Amino acid sequence: MLAAQIELKKGRDKNVRAHHPWVFSGAVQNVKGKPLSGDSVEVRTAAGELLGIGAWSPESQIQVRLWTFIDEPIDRDFFQQRIQQALDYRRQLAIPERNSAYRLINAESDGLPGFVVDVFGEWLVLQALTAGAERWKHILAQVLLEVFPARGVYERSDVDVRKKEGLEPSAGLLLGELPPAHIDIVEEGRHYRVDVVNGHKTGFYLDQRDNRSVLQQYAQGKTVLNCFSYTGGFSIAALHGGAAHTCNIDSSQPALDLATQSAALNGFQPQQMENVCGDVFKLLREYRNEERQFDIVVLDPPKFADNRKQLEKAARGYKDINLLAFRLLKPGGLLFTFSCSGLMESSLFQKIVADAAIDAGCDGRILRKLDQATDHPTRLAFPEGYYLKGLLCQK
Ligand code: SAH
Repeated sequence: MLAAQIELKKGRDKNVRAHHPWVFSGAVQNVKGKPLSGDSVEVRTAAGELLGIGAWSPESQIQVRLWTFIDEPIDRDFFQQRIQQALDYRRQLAIPERNSAYRLINAESDGLPGFVVDVFGEWLVLQALTAGAERWKHILAQVLLEVFPARGVYERSDVDVRKKEGLEPSAGLLLGELPPAHIDIVEEGRHYRVDVVNGHKTGFYLDQRDNRSVLQQYAQGKTVLNCFSYTGGFSIAALHGGAAHTCNIDSSQPALDLATQSAALNGFQPQQMENVCGDVFKLLREYRNEERQFDIVVLDPPKFADNRKQLEKAARGYKDINLLAFRLLKPGGLLFTFSCSGLMESSLFQKIVADAAIDAGCDGRILRKLDQATDHPTRLAFPEGYYLKGLLCQK
């Protein structure tokens, strides 16, 4: 028996019994013992039945994140097993064979709440987003280097969500060697230059891999406008697919500079890829006024909604850019449109895109539904893990 136990209110055991890994503060009846932030605690029903073991996070609304739903020790071996399972799954899909960068650990959906680990060539980039992850991150880094032939583990926990857990941002070398200024990766035959130290998140949006491959199939001879391009992920894919010309728009000049370097890595000529540093909302209006037209438009904006209150504003944002994108498309042109806001349900997103098409005066149709890459699985008991959704629409 562990030193600390969290007793749930009567009737509030349903979620945990359904293997949802979060216990909200409102469900907690009683805290026995004096657990510290990150400590392992038992989760029990009012009647004393053990439901699982999780990490205590007193400052968060989510007071416990469950590591396991059985009675087992949470120790080095536990993390070793979970990492091995995560790696086996990716190997089964032959992801490491085809990609030198991929997500190795996808938090709750790989049974490790609060941990994200991405592979970039010979380095691993880790995020510890919760009190429990913070407690175990050094052990996780050690076990990772035992299981995985990497040269170092670099931390990128410099994210705001840690505040909710009472944690400061944290970034830097955890174990092994420092990564170089740039890591060149291969994704399904496409070459990208990644800055894991200064880039967004862990350095690269790996979740869009499969969708970049879809775009590649449709790009032959086409002109592509890639909005919210970051380091040009979709544009490089389009050029591999034989696109005639691509244009990236992003508000980050360092990201666009990496796009230029990545294009060169693939042997593309500078004139095949134009970079525009600016605000997509403003530039799409300018292009509309100039009556510019494209065969393909990609819209991959950052998260517009962090909470339910922001959903309405987010919906207006999606409507605005999708409407403008439909206007800029040639008849028969393709729109790759995404939302990475977990709170935006697929059905609502589809409705917004449908409204945008009507307001742009066209009858679009969905050719394909898109979502996060297979190394970003979603545990059935944890639907919150599904956040990236997209539509391939034809004008
Ligand atoms: N499609 C990219 C990932 C996009 S992430 C890929 O496949 O790698 C979202 C990007 O939007 C970030 O690079 C961010 O810098 C950019 N961004 C955010 N707000 C913006 C705005 N208003 N105008 C232009 N770019 C913006």
